[in-house]
Amino acid sequence: MAYIQFLGAAGVVTGSKHLINTAADSTGKNGFQVLIDCGLFQGQKEWRERNWQDTPVPAKEIDAVVLTHAHLDHSGWIPRLVKGGFHGPIYATPATVDLCAILLPDSGHLQEEDAEFYNKKKKSKHTPALPLYTFDEAQDCLKYFRAVEFETDVQLCPEMSFRYVRAAHILGSSMVEITLKRNGSSRRLLFTGDIGRVRNHNVAPGKVVRSGPQEKESADVVVMESTYGNRRHPHDDPRPQLASVIKQTVARGGSVVIPAFAVERTQKLLFILKQMMQAGQIPAIPVYCDSPMAIKAVEIFLKHKEEYSEDTQRLIDSSGSPPEWPGFTFTSTPAESKKINASRFPCIIISSSGMATGGRILHHLAQRLPDPRNTVLFVGFQAPGTRGATIKSGARTVKIFGEEVPIRAQVAAFEQFSDHADPPELLEWLRTFTRKPDVTYLVHGEPDAANQLRNLIATELKWNVDVAEWMEKVRV
Ligand SMILES: [Zn+2]
Repeated sequence: MAYIQFLGAAGVVTGSKHLINTAADSTGKNGFQVLIDCGLFQGQKEWRERNWQDTPVPAKEIDAVVLTHAHLDHSGWIPRLVKGGFHGPIYATPATVDLCAILLPDSGHLQEEDAEFYNKKKKSKHTPALPLYTFDEAQDCLKYFRAVEFETDVQLCPEMSFRYVRAAHILGSSMVEITLKRNGSSRRLLFTGDIGRVRNHNVAPGKVVRSGPQEKESADVVVMESTYGNRRHPHDDPRPQLASVIKQTVARGGSVVIPAFAVERTQKLLFILKQMMQAGQIPAIPVYCDSPMAIKAVEIFLKHKEEYSEDTQRLIDSSGSPPEWPGFTFTSTPAESKKINASRFPCIIISSSGMATGGRILHHLAQRLPDPRNTVLFVGFQAPGTRGATIKSGARTVKIFGEEVPIRAQVAAFEQFSDHADPPELLEWLRTFTRKPDVTYLVHGEPDAANQLRNLIATELKWNVDVAEWMEKVRV
């Protein structure tokens, strides 16, 4: 009836891009073509180079894009697709549309900065180095976005429709239920995007948006993420240990630097720090949220109250919104950001990008990593090949701005703040399905993670599970 081709996030956690073609055969001719997600490859060079390759079908022949959520590994290739000739609608939930409106131009800006940096240092093999896309190009693609509310049917073409259901991963995140109809028969496909944590707040503390993915799903074919397929989140409350790391750092006169995604993770951290300060668990030292993106993300977050968890609503009711909190500084200009470098007193700096692949976190790391009084605290997944992964792995130096920076600061990592369900949580969710799918394809995981999750699902649920391969076409 149709086929799916995995154009990204197969054998790797970035570059999510899955093409559905309704053509009757695998030549793809005359089919309606939809991309589910259109993400950037990040991390290792081998993956990043794929960002420069065109899609196997010309971009102008793709009819629509359906986004699951705003993270760049799911949305960040859109400007390139538009640059390549795509002019169709890009569907997303209202909060995802708002988040993409800040994330994509920022990504374009970072691409331009990178190219400029390499040109200055003459370190590029391509002369001159070009950005994958620019700020303006990213801004330009926003006009193709169409907001779609949850649980609203959208007819893509006579034989295909979709609707969004909640994924509980980040603000606006969704799963995509696709219905294919032809010759009186019908097939249901479910693309999970990234799947959020369970509803239990003790197991997944600090959740600022509602927890728990949509239950009682049914589908013939499931395309599911496997980021944490080989790991389990610790099930203890991270806050006591977090408090002790912060207190020790302050006691030795150091500061805490936290690389965090501007969207979701930063908000989560702000709320946790505020709660811990109010409870007297950590000293009320200055907190710098050094990311213009994070400020904009907070504004978007405050606009979409329908997505709040009860804890978030309670804290906002009692303490106001983050920009009003005393001691919390949101820095938007580069000059304000540089001023933080001059701060000699213990403070907490939250900045992005979350895997230290770019952004203002780099100058904070370059300045604070060599000093053993400081702590670098990781609260998110660090993809292999990123600076974040290098620092977290215990390396003695890391390359920042072309220089080897010694790592003498304490390095701590917490896995509990993840917005991805772990295997027991995924199984708990899959058990709510009303029937066994014909086949489940695992994507968005390193090979070991995807394989371990496949074995677990096959053994525990007796489902037919395959690990998707890059560029593989499967008939649905
Ligand atoms: Zn995500």
